[in-house]
Amino acid sequence: MSEEKTELELLKDGLFLKNKHFSLCRSEDEVKAADKFCEGYKAFLNTAKTERECNRWIAEKAEKNGFVPFDPAKKYAPGDKVYLNNRGKALILAVIDKKGVSEGAKIVASHIDSPRLDLKPSPLYEDSEIAYFKTHYYGGIRKYQWTTVPLSLHGVFVRRDGSSVTVSLGEKEGEPKFVITDLLPHLAKEQSKRTLSDGVRGEELNILVGSRPFKNDEGSESVKANVLRLLNEKYGIEEEDFISAELELVPAFPVCDIGFDRSMIGGYGHDDRVCAYPGFEALFDAQAPEHTSLMVLADKEEIGSDGNTGLNSAFLRYFIADLAKAEGLEGRHVLSKSECLSADVNACFDPTFPSVHDKNNAAFLNHGVVVTKYTGARGKSGTSDASAEFVGKVRKILNDGGVRWQTGEMGKVDEGGGGTVAMFVANLNVDVVDLGVPVLSMHAPFEVVSKTDVYSTYKACKAFFESK
Ligand code: MN
Ligand code: MN
Repeated sequence: MSEEKTELELLKDGLFLKNKHFSLCRSEDEVKAADKFCEGYKAFLNTAKTERECNRWIAEKAEKNGFVPFDPAKKYAPGDKVYLNNRGKALILAVIDKKGVSEGAKIVASHIDSPRLDLKPSPLYEDSEIAYFKTHYYGGIRKYQWTTVPLSLHGVFVRRDGSSVTVSLGEKEGEPKFVITDLLPHLAKEQSKRTLSDGVRGEELNILVGSRPFKNDEGSESVKANVLRLLNEKYGIEEEDFISAELELVPAFPVCDIGFDRSMIGGYGHDDRVCAYPGFEALFDAQAPEHTSLMVLADKEEIGSDGNTGLNSAFLRYFIADLAKAEGLEGRHVLSKSECLSADVNACFDPTFPSVHDKNNAAFLNHGVVVTKYTGARGKSGTSDASAEFVGKVRKILNDGGVRWQTGEMGKVDEGGGGTVAMFVANLNVDVVDLGVPVLSMHAPFEVVSKTDVYSTYKACKAFFESK
């Protein structure tokens, strides 16, 4: 048989869009490098499960890498590394470089909040001698997925006297965990007639927290009283302190490799620690960038980016204005010349549910970081829609940097869609495009990503920071 290619094959080779599995177009060493990179990522996932924990973890790591708290009154020199900590829930890391901010900054913006269950302001109650917490879910969850899953409690109480106490319970070996119960199939006949989205309702997401009364005292609410006694002993709190608290329930299991080939990682909160981690690691590793580089780690993305730690607030704008002022410039001039990768996950094509995707415009597992020109829903509403020119520029950076990348829409045209921080950055007159890791079972308590896609996202962010 001839090994020569036919004319048709040559034509296809030359002109067709190539979309290939990472392992089929990269060396074995690069696959190994991806696996190695993901070991660090897994450690991050296991220790930083909420926006506050991510903030602490990243700030610590930044300090180890030479970053110091930002002082707006100071003028920084090339090579200086600073970070702004926004209320312990969001961060901006910046490396000042040769050109300062006179020609704009290179920004990677990601978010460190994930879908979860928040406690209501007055959460504790007793029903039929069982104590529960009421919750209000945070972000877009499929509620039925969050029942019968072990949960841990994270967050902070601010007490009557203004002092605060940090909570993390259910992660360490031997600590108790929490759970939401569901009906047994034998008694679920009526519940099973509900639609899937209504299968478990918001007010049914009640957390099991205790079942023993105080001593052997009989009387109403003695189980609740006992839970409060234990909370008082451990955290020094009373019931009113729940009102000035932020307490979050997240899945209590650690991450793990998935598959016989260990090619994937399963765990809670990939969205969007899976883009945040490659982003800040790329910032730490970037070689001699010419432009000032910023890694923005925002909160509140899962509920629309509103609030003073979300990217719809002014904290990024103010930070840039401070950097600009130190160089005798206006913030708006710097922003107008800046470029941003909105590092956020996208839906991964799931062969079990193919009908929600347009296969030509879907992201595939192991095909690399996904460049998403626009998100939004039904007629592109609620998106920034990156320009051809900026996508062209990013595409060249990725190709020149040997980054495995693909394009992908968030499902079929009228199927769904979604939002990211891209539009809030774009609204500051910055060129922005979305880029990130494809995720299976996104927003579920246990999400799945591919290791080579995580690594490709790191390579993409690094190439962007190092670009001219
Ligand atoms: Mn996200
Ligand atoms: Mn999300």
